[in-house]
Amino acid sequence: MYLSVRVDTEKCIGCKICITSCPEPNVFIFLPEQKLVEVNESRCKACGLCTTVCAKEALKIG
Ligand code: SF4
Ligand code: SF4
Repeated sequence: MYLSVRVDTEKCIGCKICITSCPEPNVFIFLPEQKLVEVNESRCKACGLCTTVCAKEALKIG
């Protein structure tokens, strides 16, 4: 099964903390108009680090 982090767009407030926490380049894409982040799933290593820093609990591995 292919694992990647997923963003709950109902919870994300676009604070970008997850972007600074991620050790992989270019996984997160910030969408300024929507104030959300998107994930480039093919780049995510599913390490789970970003899920520990999101105060909104908007990130889950799945
Ligand atoms: S840390 Fe959470 S709330 Fe902040 S941008 Fe990332 S997913 Fe959204
Ligand atoms: S699970 Fe790891 S590699 Fe994937 S987005 Fe989060 S911090 Fe980056």
